[in-house]
Amino acid sequence: MIKKYESLFINGEWVTPHGTGFTTVYNPATEDAIADVCNADGEDVNRAFAAAKEAFKTWSTTTSQERHDWIMKLYHALEARKEEMAQAISESMGCPISKSRIIQVNCVVAFKKFAERAKMMDVQTQVNNSVVIREPAGVCAFITPWNYPLYQLIGKVAPALAAGCTMVIKESSMTPLQGLIFAEVVQEIGLPKGVFNLLTGKGSVLGDLMVTHPDADVISFTGSTSTGARIQELAAKTVKRVCLELGGKSPFIITEDAPLEKAVTFGVEDVMINSGQTCICLSRMLVPASKYEEAVAIAKRVAEGLKIGDPTDASTYMGPMSSKAQRDTVVKYIQKGLEEGAKLVTGGVELPYGITKGAYVQPTIFRDVDNKMVIAQEEIFGPVIVMIPYDTLEEALAIANDSPYGLSSGVWAGTVDAAVAIARKIRTGGCYINGGDFNYDAPLGGYKQSGNGREWGDFGIHEFYEIKSLQLPA
Ligand code: NAD
Repeated sequence: MIKKYESLFINGEWVTPHGTGFTTVYNPATEDAIADVCNADGEDVNRAFAAAKEAFKTWSTTTSQERHDWIMKLYHALEARKEEMAQAISESMGCPISKSRIIQVNCVVAFKKFAERAKMMDVQTQVNNSVVIREPAGVCAFITPWNYPLYQLIGKVAPALAAGCTMVIKESSMTPLQGLIFAEVVQEIGLPKGVFNLLTGKGSVLGDLMVTHPDADVISFTGSTSTGARIQELAAKTVKRVCLELGGKSPFIITEDAPLEKAVTFGVEDVMINSGQTCICLSRMLVPASKYEEAVAIAKRVAEGLKIGDPTDASTYMGPMSSKAQRDTVVKYIQKGLEEGAKLVTGGVELPYGITKGAYVQPTIFRDVDNKMVIAQEEIFGPVIVMIPYDTLEEALAIANDSPYGLSSGVWAGTVDAAVAIARKIRTGGCYINGGDFNYDAPLGGYKQSGNGREWGDFGIHEFYEIKSLQLPA
């Protein structure tokens, strides 16, 4: 018997949905069904927004200290459920458990900083005869994807709570389990009812209803560029604030004087972690032509040395893709690359050696890639790297910037200063310098078709407040 989730979390309670039927959640490694999760419908969407609207009346008037204290309560209660959420994510989307414990759930720690950031709402400035103040932006609709499901949830929920907003959330129907645990925690700590409402069900059914809902003031969406563009169009009719965190095809420039072994290893591991399903992964590796053969050999060795297989095995580096559908998409791109004339260094369309079922894709590296090829222009969202040679730094920058996306990038140069100078010329929202680490306190977001929002860090709260100016008498 698989686990059945029969309730939605609305207005501080678990309620029976008006919607009918269930969506089955599968384990992509075993292909087994692991849970049935109930489907909300339009009536449930209305109930959730009504609760969030009512709750906004009081939550928006709480003091920053009160919100700080609630967020810290939430943080401590979530810490206690981290292992359970790591397991749920690993089971539903295939991230190896040893990685899931770090890259999928460590983000809970960000609540501590967002508790502090509640005070940013108290900031007011005097400008001549005016005082400029900040007010919570209102009721938010959150729609999130399956690749880092808890991280994406927290990147929206934490700043929204800190700002004094209330929310209606719908996560990807492929990975709803950690969100249901999150809602249990919200109930356990007794967060005022209606502040946090969680719906489950299909994005194709609930998405339009949420983003056009008359009571939604802010839409924050993380997902593909095509869905994001559609959401922006729909929400434009009622001039809602729309924050979009979308896809990427990030370039990684390795310079002539970079330590090649270190840089290429970093680049390969960066893409292969989470099976290439990381929006900011450095999937286009740009290497000086003079170092190309050497770099290709290193990349092949590193990729072939990664352990791929059972996500429950603590030594596994790479699990399956998050679903069979995602495997099909990635395999089509690999076929496309071959048709376009790119050559396989390693990997390909077959299941990895020794694996007979599951949504697995081999770590795949293409060489002799032209940046105009589809595999260099479109987001594959799988364990696929394209290696592109360049002759001059100007050419490398032109290739790096020749992309519809502008989410992230990387540079590895002889010195940090030299890498930063190059990074300043790349049109992306972030850049990883000489192997620099991810930072929850730095903003994340994209230029161009990678979106218009910034999550995390101090900037993460900006999306959730309005600015009001009060003109005082002389
Ligand atoms: P997706 O766009 O298919 O789905 C994202 C969410 O939108 C899901 O919850 C889905 O149910 C919902 N949805 C589907 N149809 C909808 C509709 N018509 N209206 C409203 N919502 C709808 O994306 P995905 O495949 O789940 O996620 C992968 C994508 O997310 C990649 O492109 C990746 O780059 C991107 N991503 C971006 C960031 C970032 O911070 N920029 C982070 C992670 C993932």
